[in-house]
Amino acid sequence: VWQHILEHIRRNITEVEFHTWFERIRPLGVQEGVLELAVPTSFALDWIRRHYAELIQEALGLLGAQAPRFELKVVPSTAVQEDIFHAAPPLDAPQPRLNPKYTFENFVVGPNNSMAHAAAVAVAESPGRAYNPLFIYGGVGLGKTHLMHAVGHSVAKRFPHLKVEYVSTETFTNELINAIREDRMSEFRERYRSVDLLLVDDIQFIAGKERTQEEFFHTFNALYEAHKQIILSSDRPPKDILTLEARLRSRFEWGLITDIQPPDLETRIAILKMNAEQRGLRIGEEVLEYIARQVTSNIRELEGALMRTVAYASLNGVELNRVVAAKALSEIFSPREVEVDPQEIVRKVAEHFALRPEDLVGGGRRKEVVLPRQVAMFLVRELTRSSLPEIGQLFGGRDHTTVLYAIQKVQELAESDREVQSLLRALKERLV
Ligand code: ADP
Ligand code: MG
Repeated sequence: VWQHILEHIRRNITEVEFHTWFERIRPLGVQEGVLELAVPTSFALDWIRRHYAELIQEALGLLGAQAPRFELKVVPSTAVQEDIFHAAPPLDAPQPRLNPKYTFENFVVGPNNSMAHAAAVAVAESPGRAYNPLFIYGGVGLGKTHLMHAVGHSVAKRFPHLKVEYVSTETFTNELINAIREDRMSEFRERYRSVDLLLVDDIQFIAGKERTQEEFFHTFNALYEAHKQIILSSDRPPKDILTLEARLRSRFEWGLITDIQPPDLETRIAILKMNAEQRGLRIGEEVLEYIARQVTSNIRELEGALMRTVAYASLNGVELNRVVAAKALSEIFSPREVEVDPQEIVRKVAEHFALRPEDLVGGGRRKEVVLPRQVAMFLVRELTRSSLPEIGQLFGGRDHTTVLYAIQKVQELAESDREVQSLLRALKERLV
């Protein structure tokens, strides 16, 4: 609960204010619908009450509390107990910068991620010798960062003498800029070229950054030649990263490229179950399934929905059941947000026509894929908020006029052809 409140607060005040007043607040629990918060001093209590009470209340309201109330108590910091839901990772975690929660043990394996998981395990077992580089791609919130950190933990534990470095592409870029400005390039190079396992997250952000690409190219070569392991993550495969130098793209393709797809229902339920257990929450199967059905495409949001549901029940002092879950989520997600995932549409349509999803989003023009592809485009348009250019992007970078044509075609067919009509109806029923 508290994590969500903090997120809201953080968005609304400056970093300095946040750091000064909120980082040391600890949630004590909920008593009869009142959230109790521990602050370290009476001065802080007074200040927070005068300046931030409304903000905290607003955050509680957003979580679905009917009568959002909280109480501040002075608890000297040693006596403060752990947050009941999250032990937040420290902001400046020691090297390597790995989130302790992101381990293999905490990673639920399903059909959507089993390949990526297997590759990650193989790399963790023999870094530099299994697949190099390992390139993991997939949509937001599907576990790429988690898997990378898991390899990092595993290698650090198994081979304590190896040096592990995790960096987001954004941080790499910023550090590079600083190094250039402060004339510390040799230090920068030494740092990244002396590691045994380099994890670079969200490499798609390197697109268009020429200086960073240049520098990363040399880092890559130095590590690769020394048989050091490199793992990269991205929201798309190398070939779809536009304005990526060809020499980098080809290097990204040297090793193994593996993807993570959105999890199916069973996997989503398993993830929720593990989450609940880890937090010591006992939640009925039907509640977990309900939540898993609402949030289909992003595991971070899936976990958020679980936490919101728990917070809602606890703040309103009611037992958590399916009805309460439905209420909690309906008040938080506006109806449009609980929309169908475009990828899910592609999968379902492909499945229906006994094709592979790749056939639909790929470039092939065989007769047997053209109509299914048009149907999929039509459904994405109808069931999601995607714009025509976005749909074009989803379907292998097609032009928006092609998408428009496809949609009109299906519409015409639906008007004249009973079979197409019932096909669309059946597909929609399975999707929403
Ligand atoms: P990405 O980097 O792909 O955007 P993350 O790795 O940050 O996604 O994952 C988002 C959240 O979902 C994290 O809290 C992560 O622990 C969780 N998560 C993702 N995949 C799994 C999984 N297979 N099992 C358990 N938790 C997962
Ligand atoms: Mg990530």
